Amino acid sequence: MDLTLAIIKPDAVEGRKIGRILAQLEDAGFSIRAAKFVQLDEPQAGAFYAVHSERPFYEPLKRFMTSGPILALALEHEDAVTRLRKVIGATDPAEAEPGTVRAQYAESKERNAIHASDSDETARQELSFFFSSRELMGAA
Ligand code: ATP
Ligand code: MG
Repeated sequence: MDLTLAIIKPDAVEGRKIGRILAQLEDAGFSIRAAKFVQLDEPQAGAFYAVHSERPFYEPLKRFMTSGPILALALEHEDAVTRLRKVIGATDPAEAEPGTVRAQYAESKERNAIHASDSDETARQELSFFFSSRELMGAA
């Protein structure tokens, strides 16, 4: 699939890193096909990260993701999911490759600047979580 979902997380929005991160994504060859500021509430954050509901970090993760606005992005690139995971780097910035988004802008494993879908199936679900088919019209 040529589309994936990214989220610029509350830490990076608050830290005024949006411009730099979008520039890096465009420089890496991604086209921004849809973008939306969203303030998630607790049930929405819980639903988005439902796969982690049994993990010890689920509650802090929901608190973090509802702590301020986020920027949801539909990004287009050949092999988009794999490409974007590579560009954002490992979950923990201490383990992220130099030059990746998280190596540069994440504060910690919890406050790690950006989310990216981890499979084509997840990307489809996550894109439809934030965007209507009409909003994705014209995207791949
Ligand atoms: P994301 O899904 O946000 O793109 P990811 O796929 O790299 O990140 P996941 O394992 O899906 O990582 O975890 C989702 C999010 O939960 C992480 O981005 C991070 O904010 C938080 N998280 C993951 N593991 C931990 C942990 N061990 N301790 C605290 N927070 C964690
Ligand atoms: Mg994940």
